[in-house]
Amino acid sequence: MTLRKLLDTIYVDTDATNGGNHGAIVLDDEILMVDSGMMHTKSLASRQFLESETGLSIKKLIFTHSHSDHVFGAQAFEPVLLISSESTRKNCEGRLKHEWKRNILLERYSQIKGDNPELWDAVQTLSIRLPDITFDDEISLGNNKQITAKTVGGHTSGSAIVICHELSAVFVGDLIFSGQFPYGGDPTCKPDQWIHALQEISSKQYETIIPGHGPVCGQKELDEYIEALKELRFNIKYALETGISIETFIDQNKIPKALKMGFERFGEVTLKHWFEYYT
Ligand SMILES: [Zn+2]
Repeated sequence: MTLRKLLDTIYVDTDATNGGNHGAIVLDDEILMVDSGMMHTKSLASRQFLESETGLSIKKLIFTHSHSDHVFGAQAFEPVLLISSESTRKNCEGRLKHEWKRNILLERYSQIKGDNPELWDAVQTLSIRLPDITFDDEISLGNNKQITAKTVGGHTSGSAIVICHELSAVFVGDLIFSGQFPYGGDPTCKPDQWIHALQEISSKQYETIIPGHGPVCGQKELDEYIEALKELRFNIKYALETGISIETFIDQNKIPKALKMGFERFGEVTLKHWFEYYT
């Protein structure tokens, strides 16, 4: 159990042992989860910790987007009202027909059985359910509408941020892989929209920014991340103009310094998508 208290009413898990970062916002009479982690077996401990710590129940769970490392843990919070942007629901529906089909999932995760037996175990009893409530642009939550979830796109077509106005804090999902190269290989990923979304977030000067991966950050790290993504975009556009291949791009070390960490994990698939996007 690695969920920890970050602010007065905000708890987060950022240690990457249960998929993507996830967290909770404690409201007057209930708890709102933001993303669920990846292994419901582990997320269950987060639930028990939160409910015993606050004496409240988790009644709602909002997804920042449709990637497995942010949504597969959801069943640990049942019964719960699942909320997402309309586009995230559509992306989940699409995945349920293809890569989230039981036989395909089992086949895929059997390959990591040895490296991550805990994940393999969780997949055996995984049950995936679609969001109950969706929103197009934004939705307000809490008795005083103190929480806003807003669709911004970028990382995926349905990517949303969750703002806690009272504490000037924002969950930005996978728009930020703090200190790391991001996964930008989703078929619905739009790099320009991604950078634009981060610029909008930056203009609001939030005090606390909770990324989808990596440690909690502030305005400085956010602005550095925007610059790094802009540099990556500039280098890719230049490579396309001058006919440089992805391979040469990597050989010539065109990856911005701030994004070097984690490149081996998501670099190639992201570059492939971004090169195609700007072609
Ligand atoms: Zn993601």
